[in-house]
Amino acid sequence: MNIIQIYKRFPTEKDCVEYLEHVRWNGIPQCPYCNSRRTTSLPKESRHHCNRCNTSFAVTVGTIFHNTKLDLQKWFLALVLILNAKQDISARQLGRDLEVTKDTAWRMSLKIRDALTQKQSELLSGVVEMDETYIGGKPRKGKKYDDDDKLIRGRGTKKVSVFGRRE
Ligand SMILES: [Zn+2]
Repeated sequence: MNIIQIYKRFPTEKDCVEYLEHVRWNGIPQCPYCNSRRTTSLPKESRHHCNRCNTSFAVTVGTIFHNTKLDLQKWFLALVLILNAKQDISARQLGRDLEVTKDTAWRMSLKIRDALTQKQSELLSGVVEMDETYIGGKPRKGKKYDDDDKLIRGRGTKKVSVFGRRE
């Protein structure tokens, strides 16, 4: 998309939120904290209330738009400007284009570039399992494994800890 198309497609904040909600949840909001889909819409604030863990959340939780004070339209425009630029666009130029300060533009481009290179930026969702274990051999007979006299198991051992998570 180019800038004109962004303006036409996302004229208001609401259009941006609806688009993100569609992409992220496909119409059924899901609590990012407990994964419940039992939610109530709070349309005035563009947020949702989770009836299970009793928190409220916006579609931007866990994304680069989380806690932003800027309009989402500016973020969308920033994305387009950065993605469509033949060379790296400077913070000064981005600031002029978006009518934000150079510092704000710099922070935005940092977040956007970071997200574009990050492969695991999304929160895990659905059923998530995780477990940890400690890898390494048993102490040889007559030798102490750790510095003190007892064999330490689990946390505190000198074995290598391995942590896995799966969506
Ligand atoms: Zn919840």
